[in-house]
Amino acid sequence: MTNETIGDLHEDNWRQVCESLRSEIGEAAYQSWVKPMTIRGVADGAARISVPTRFMRDWVVAHYVERLGSLWTALDKAIECVDISIQPERALKPIESAAKSTAPVAAAATGAAHGVARIDTRRASDIGQVGISGPLDSRFTFDNFVVGKPNEFAYAAARRVAEAPSVPFNPLFLYGGVGLGKTHLMHAIAQHICRQDPKRTVIYLSAEKFMYRFIRALKEQNTVDFKDMFRNVDVLMIDDVQFIGGKGATQEEFFHTFNALVDQGRQIVISADKSPSDLEGMEERLQSRLNCGLVADIHATTYELRLGILQSKAEQLKVDVPQKMMEFLAHKITANVRELEGALNRVVAHSQLVGREITLETAQEVLHDLLRANDRRVTIEEIQKQVASHFNIRGSDMHSARRARSVARPRQVAMYLAKQLTSRSLPEIGRKFGGRDHTTVMHAVKKVEELRECDSSFAEDVELLRRMLEG
Ligand code: ADP
Ligand code: MG
Repeated sequence: MTNETIGDLHEDNWRQVCESLRSEIGEAAYQSWVKPMTIRGVADGAARISVPTRFMRDWVVAHYVERLGSLWTALDKAIECVDISIQPERALKPIESAAKSTAPVAAAATGAAHGVARIDTRRASDIGQVGISGPLDSRFTFDNFVVGKPNEFAYAAARRVAEAPSVPFNPLFLYGGVGLGKTHLMHAIAQHICRQDPKRTVIYLSAEKFMYRFIRALKEQNTVDFKDMFRNVDVLMIDDVQFIGGKGATQEEFFHTFNALVDQGRQIVISADKSPSDLEGMEERLQSRLNCGLVADIHATTYELRLGILQSKAEQLKVDVPQKMMEFLAHKITANVRELEGALNRVVAHSQLVGREITLETAQEVLHDLLRANDRRVTIEEIQKQVASHFNIRGSDMHSARRARSVARPRQVAMYLAKQLTSRSLPEIGRKFGGRDHTTVMHAVKKVEELRECDSSFAEDVELLRRMLEG
């Protein structure tokens, strides 16, 4: 081992990697698995991490190390692999000498196990696109995607784009609620294309990253370089494009990049949480261009799909999960696949930690909080009813055109709570309030937020209602 030092830069990168993982896997998993990891140093292209127990090492290697590696490689191209060693906590310091005594047991290489993501960034750098493409999750492949009624169309469209020798439709616009597999499908397309034809360049970026890069280029008066980054790309993928809505200059730039690439016959793949026509703050000409290709939506999961996904995940985890428990979870956790996966991971981790078999009972115990939250999904109708009765107005006033403050204010509170407590979009909420426009809902949300700031009894009212509705 040569010159093993940590250094501020590596520490910073490590912190960023941890934070990204945290937002991806959730707080509970983060606390259990990521937080106990300690960075030991970086040397010879290897990032060295230690964890306190063997169990932890195995778990981290099985579940997180690839992702960890790809996130790290994205920040620092020099990182080629990650070594995870076991280091009981009390023996942690001093770093240098302790590092020498650890045996790096499981070396899950970002290079080998995660080739695609790395090759991707490297290739980008060859043509002056250092790190522009975000990291790809090697687990997000077509093979690992469970197909069912709600997503079969989106899946077929994604496969088509990945396999077609020329552009089949442009753009491919994937949309659907949170955690339903949009990012998974995009990564699958990118990885398939890279594997099939390493000469094709793919850039995958979140819309936020795109925005960030563009704004930075503006500040540095370097927009020519920014444009150049996209000029040679064969496939451009922008994830979560709803974040570009309302951002004038970025939207403009996106529109031009988009048009230029389409004109050159390059493939574009976009994802968003809404259909092009429902995207808020999106210019009409951009909306209509987005609508030009193939628009494929991913619907909410069905029970069958959820069960299928659980079975597939259990197989990947190589654990025996009783059918009854999977059926139970598929019934209970309906919001999205991410939550469902998280639930399964938690149950499995728990059973391995305490060394007991997985049963329906332990699952109920371990997932107590999650199950409770899923038991109570508030509907807009319930909110309207509760708010109307609280403020002593008629239920029908929630839909009426009356603008007297005595009814308008409660209506605004109900809209605000609908935004907070349900996953409905602003236009959907507007429709439920007598066909109002989404800007009315937006205004209501802002108004209630302002009033909460300056009127404490009003704030208490809203808080009380929220707690009652959440049960
Ligand atoms: P989105 O981008 O739509 O918010 P993601 O693509 O990030 O959702 O999916 C959330 C999680 O659920 C990921 O871990 C993904 O692998 C998983 N997932 C979603 N849909 C499926 C599916 N049909 N089969 C297998 N895994 C899925
Ligand atoms: Mg996503």
